[in-house]
Amino acid sequence: MSSSSEVQELLAKLVAFDTTSTKSNLELIAFIKTYLDGYGVASTLIPSADDAKASLFASIGPSGGGIGLSGHSDCVPVEGQTWSSDPFQLQFRDGKLYGRGSCDMKGFLACVLASVPLFTSRELKEPVHIIVSYDEEVGCTGVRPLIARLGSAVPRPRAIVVGEFTSMAVIDAHKGIDAYCTVVTGREAHSSLPQRSVNAISIAAELIKEIDRIGAALASREIDDRFNPPFSTLQVGTIKGGTATNVVPNTCEFHWQVRSLPDAEPDFAPNRLNTYAEQTLLPRMRQVAPTASIETQHRGSVPAFLAKPGSEAVALALALTGANATSTVSYGTEGGLFEEAGCPTVICGPGDTEQAHVADEFVATAQLDACMAFLTKLAEKLSS
Ligand SMILES: [Zn+2]
Repeated sequence: MSSSSEVQELLAKLVAFDTTSTKSNLELIAFIKTYLDGYGVASTLIPSADDAKASLFASIGPSGGGIGLSGHSDCVPVEGQTWSSDPFQLQFRDGKLYGRGSCDMKGFLACVLASVPLFTSRELKEPVHIIVSYDEEVGCTGVRPLIARLGSAVPRPRAIVVGEFTSMAVIDAHKGIDAYCTVVTGREAHSSLPQRSVNAISIAAELIKEIDRIGAALASREIDDRFNPPFSTLQVGTIKGGTATNVVPNTCEFHWQVRSLPDAEPDFAPNRLNTYAEQTLLPRMRQVAPTASIETQHRGSVPAFLAKPGSEAVALALALTGANATSTVSYGTEGGLFEEAGCPTVICGPGDTEQAHVADEFVATAQLDACMAFLTKLAEKLSS
């Protein structure tokens, strides 16, 4: 069997597990564990707090240092998308393998698993570590308990390759994501008496206009031409408020998100929104309703990723791909968390951004071949 049919067979098995982030990934993890057992490779599982999910860490070779190959097992939902074929049954058409997660990022995991015999058959001078996480698509939460155990329950790699879809380009930076929720509390009244009320939806609208002004300010503040767009951005994603047209609404809640350049001033956007709320809106609201309030809560973050100058992870990926330059991506990954934890990290994996998260998601077999070449060179490097 050629290596590429081996990869495709593994990818078909991984895609067949519906590991949408809202579901358990335990069957997929059990499959990987059994597969690794078959090559005499032991796995450490790190369960989630509710035991519904787990991440996996496995090492091949001697102890000390080594290269981590990291991927997430979860994928985004297929609900609301129109697929040409069953998203959980891998389909081959015109050099492309279609299926949910084929690009993001079971293609990389299939390549890593397919290269296990390559690693176990060699006399490795340095180990290779396989890292499989969960809940990446819902805020990179699943990898955090595993990262907390690096150097204790599991070894700490000297460099980590996060195999997110980069078309095998070497990525050394991406923006960070911060999510916020703002709740406006005004005062309810019959709609015939608006002067005795504070309309929470109207106040929210003013805050959202301020968010748009903050966006314009961000666009002229910190510029980094390596990113597209070359500045930090923000946007409101959802809004909820009111019960009927004849009732002045007393609450309105909206959710918004900031995507920041790696070296952006932290909290610029929430600080500016709070200043606007406190100095402009609240004094006016409290003249009518003393208990009126505007509260903004930080709801989670995915840290930006920026490899350190001279990063050994970046140097490794450049050597293995033969590329002579690095680039950036616009999406978030677990890379910033690994880098923050002191593990030099690089993002490099098969598949194209255009194919991730969409209906008829696919990975080109040529991309899987390029990833296998990368892993083959890694095996040579670690054994020479
Ligand atoms: Zn991903």
